[in-house]
Amino acid sequence: MMQRRRTRQINVNGVGVGSDFPITVQTMTNSNTEDIGATLIQIHDAAEAGCNLIRVSCPTKASTQALRDIVKLSPIPVIADIHFHYKRALEALDATAACVRINPGNIAPSDIAEIVSAARYNGAAIRIGINSGSLEESVLKKYGEPTAVAIVESAVSHCHRLEDLGFTNFKVSVKSSDVRTMITAYRQLSNEIGYPLHLGVTEAGPVIPGTIKSAIGIGALLADGIGDTIRVSLSGSIIDEVNVGQQILKSLGLLANCVNVVSCPTCARSNIDVIQIASALEQHCSTIQKAIKISVLGCVVNGIGEAKNVDIGVFGFTDGIAKVYVRGEEYDTVTDDHVIETVLDILNNLESPEN
Ligand code: SF4
Repeated sequence: MMQRRRTRQINVNGVGVGSDFPITVQTMTNSNTEDIGATLIQIHDAAEAGCNLIRVSCPTKASTQALRDIVKLSPIPVIADIHFHYKRALEALDATAACVRINPGNIAPSDIAEIVSAARYNGAAIRIGINSGSLEESVLKKYGEPTAVAIVESAVSHCHRLEDLGFTNFKVSVKSSDVRTMITAYRQLSNEIGYPLHLGVTEAGPVIPGTIKSAIGIGALLADGIGDTIRVSLSGSIIDEVNVGQQILKSLGLLANCVNVVSCPTCARSNIDVIQIASALEQHCSTIQKAIKISVLGCVVNGIGEAKNVDIGVFGFTDGIAKVYVRGEEYDTVTDDHVIETVLDILNNLESPEN
């Protein structure tokens, strides 16, 4: 079992973030925040896909005014994303945002105390969000570029600033668009502070490259036990971000109560339509909350071995015919076109295994 790094625990309006709690998946709306209806549609869709915390950009006073209704009607805690104007943070906190993400690179140090005081008054959390693209001038001048060391130095100094103000309900991120820099920075930061870490590769790109960069960056850190909440940043749909985030957690066994479908790439030996069956099962099972592993393989080469080691195993036995195993025992022989309904039927009656 993977050991998580011990951290402090923080509370984001009822959602715990830290090593005592499950790793949460976040995304960020990309609607105009002032359009309350459009923003709430995105939030509900994201929550349905499995998002635990939602971030909403607040660039204008009108957006923080809209935030009050958004927070009220959101099914999950809302984090206000603040840059440049500390007053937006104060307004967002007054609008009962669960957390404000502040970027110390573009908010004056003298304004941070007021934000902290408002967060404390409202029982809200803060994220110190350091980003390689908007590092503060003094640190950039010292290092010449946003290296891992520079990003971490900035993050640690801002942690100390909040501690000096007597505030500890915060988490930290040190994102970079460069995967190696991001991994190095988070590893170093996790040795220096005990606050929960929000992981992400910033500006990761379009869906395929962004997914790969995020899986490598976030995945490498999670595999080391580092990270308490994650956001995949894609130039794509926010639902893709949630799905990719969940798949990263799933791949490392860090998402409880989910169905995990493994399948082979198929080849000339395949006796059943693995690609269609596996895709359909993945889709059908995406919202089922059971810790069940399913294997779908095209032939007996690896099919029997995999089938005996998962909860539900399917493999192509002869042309168009599949064998179905349940928890190591042969259960049924069905034609290719009955595999999906058979598996879903078994799944319906199968409980998660005892831990
Ligand atoms: Fe090919 Fe069989 Fe391996 Fe699938 S399990 S890739 S069908 S050899």
